[in-house]
Amino acid sequence: MADAEVIVIGGGIAGASAAFHLASYGRSVTLLERGEIGSEASGGNAGGIGALGWGHIPDLESYLTMGSLQIFRSLHLELGYDIEFRASGGLQAIQTEEQYVYARDRVLALKSRGYTLELLTTDEARGIEPELSPDLYGAMHFPLRGQADPKKTTRAFADAAVARGATVLTDCQVTGIARTIEGTYRVACTNGEFSAHRLVIAGGAWCGPLGEMLSLRIPIVPVRGQMWATQPLPPRSFHSLSSAESYAHWSQHPGWDADHPPELTHIRSNRVTRHLYGRQNRDGEIIFGGDRELVGYDYTVDASGVEVNFGHASEILPMLSGLSINRTWSGMMPFSLDGRPIIGKIPQIDDLYIVSGLASSGFGRGPMAGKLIADYVHTGNRPQVLAESDPARCVTGLA
Ligand SMILES: Cc1cc2nc3c(=O)[nH]c(=O)nc-3n(C[C@H](O)[C@H](O)[C@H](O)COP(=O)(O)OP(=O)(O)OC[C@H]3O[C@@H](n4cnc5c(N)ncnc54)[C@H](O)[C@@H]3O)c2cc1C
Repeated sequence: MADAEVIVIGGGIAGASAAFHLASYGRSVTLLERGEIGSEASGGNAGGIGALGWGHIPDLESYLTMGSLQIFRSLHLELGYDIEFRASGGLQAIQTEEQYVYARDRVLALKSRGYTLELLTTDEARGIEPELSPDLYGAMHFPLRGQADPKKTTRAFADAAVARGATVLTDCQVTGIARTIEGTYRVACTNGEFSAHRLVIAGGAWCGPLGEMLSLRIPIVPVRGQMWATQPLPPRSFHSLSSAESYAHWSQHPGWDADHPPELTHIRSNRVTRHLYGRQNRDGEIIFGGDRELVGYDYTVDASGVEVNFGHASEILPMLSGLSINRTWSGMMPFSLDGRPIIGKIPQIDDLYIVSGLASSGFGRGPMAGKLIADYVHTGNRPQVLAESDPARCVTGLA
């Protein structure tokens, strides 16, 4: 007898959402997390939720973002978990003429495909975000973007899963995985062994090592993101904020090769662009981050990167230049080598699923990613939209 129908490995937003949705469908599910719920990227991210609308022909990205938005809203407003969700909208600052050309073309192209965004003049942008610099060339406005507290959200999914009958075990590191001839997964943990008929890998930046336990190569690499926060301030900033600089750069130089996922800020330790995102949280801290660097599992915050990021943020919000940094932190983002999500069934072994590769926007996309994998496990049929994220394209056996 297996302990559960499904084991989910990883208590980040992807795994917690998968467990919540599986439990909501009446499945018996056990979630195994080596630390606390949300102890890695899902608890330490910026809490930005990206969304552009469904578009005329909804693709995986529309499903992940718009579906997640709906789940965030319902977790907060219908299920009553205070996750600090706010449909704040987002502004992306344009700082140069070159960025303006990129932004104008992007807005036109996306609007023609049915997405929701606008190009604002600097005065229009300052009308809704008064602290923005008057020196900008304008801003892109994403009215559907939102924000929420990452730790509270991830924990809310785990709590909601438990309320629906799931077992959630923390301080439970998976050290080995075996499949019996009868088709049961036996998962060895630091504090016991658990079994189930189906297994969902939701290990974020650690999907690689988890795959190796099953003799699989899962091409996900850890990309270090780092952030800083000011002291709490009275409300000064209202939107999720970002800069067009990195997007304009990556549109020309995605920087993708066999060893590097696309859209990093550093290639072989050299900075290629400045990336920026942030917001003011409910505690009043202004938090920003941006760097995306491939440094293995090294969490050491790079002070020079923080300095560059603080300078960039101060160009956009000049009021920051009079403030100092109160704390910094870092986390590991799960980037697939081709930059696309890996969500679906792993073809090499029966009843094995994965939900990962959510990269730098997995907080905003994780709730729906978890629901889609839960739908797949529950029905046995692949949601059509997951054709785009099929693990068969990249997961291989270990040589
Ligand atoms: C600094 C920073 C800022 C970011 N800002 C944003 C943002 O504003 N908006 C946005 O959408 N995204 C953002 N992201 C990205 C987002 O946080 C991630 O894409 C997302 O959290 C990934 O979720 P996950 O569940 O796949 O992985 P994780 O949150 O990493 O969860 C995986 C879990 O698996 C567990 N695990 C691993 N190995 C084992 C094992 N052997 N046994 C048991 N458990 C195991 C880990 O402990 C971990 O808790 C940011 C990330 C960082 C680092």
